[in-house]
Amino acid sequence: MGPPNKIKVTVDVLDGSLEVDLSDTIRVLSEVQKIDLELDVIEREKERCCSEIEESKSEGDDIKEKVTLLTEALDTLEVEGKDLEEGLRVNKETITKDNERLGEIKNDKQFKAITKEISNAEKSVKLLEMESSALSERVAEKREEIAGLEAKSSEKTDAAGTLVKKLEENNAEWAKEIEGKSKEREALIVDIPPNILKKYDTIRARRAGIGIVTVERETCQGCFIQIPPQVYIQLRRDSDGIINCPHCYRFLYFDGESEVGAESTSNEAESSMPADEA
Ligand SMILES: [Zn+2]
Repeated sequence: MGPPNKIKVTVDVLDGSLEVDLSDTIRVLSEVQKIDLELDVIEREKERCCSEIEESKSEGDDIKEKVTLLTEALDTLEVEGKDLEEGLRVNKETITKDNERLGEIKNDKQFKAITKEISNAEKSVKLLEMESSALSERVAEKREEIAGLEAKSSEKTDAAGTLVKKLEENNAEWAKEIEGKSKEREALIVDIPPNILKKYDTIRARRAGIGIVTVERETCQGCFIQIPPQVYIQLRRDSDGIINCPHCYRFLYFDGESEVGAESTSNEAESSMPADEA
């Protein structure tokens, strides 16, 4: 196959008309697509990094909230513990005093009354001691839980800090890359008629970032649907024409070399998009 013929066509632009070489337009557009995909990768990487930070921070916040709730519960338990201690103190005091009073007893009635009071106080002490011991266990559990969560929380804070640092470092790198690629893009798009560039941008926005694709084995490499034979023939013969895939509306170009390329295995399914929207 010989070199493609260059056909000059007139494309309507905002300020009149422009004579452009469409084979160049498609070629340049495919270069723009490469840059755009590289820029998309950077953008996605940035988003991923930011969302990791957000995730780490929100996990940290969840843990802190749990610690707050547990600390409140612990405070309540400690108040309960003080009440129990006070109860124990009062009952033990009663037992001591009653035991002293036993020595000064005048009659049997008094004796019965005091020994009953002692017995009741001793029962109370037993109960309170049991409650107190159970409470101590719960307090210890809560303290352990809080300590574990606090360690986790500080891990999360450290992780978020590391990610923020990484993001800051990467940001500088990305900014440089974005600047370089954007300049390349700007230099390229001066050769593309604005209406075609606008259409490319629109398709790209709606078609997973891909606005222009090759055709291999009569199949659009964007949607992987076979294109009609007459469109394929036109594409091969007129390598200078601007042709859009009738299914996904992406710009198509025929790259002779890619025809011998590997077989496609993808089966991207896409809904159709009205032609006037593309
Ligand atoms: Zn397609």
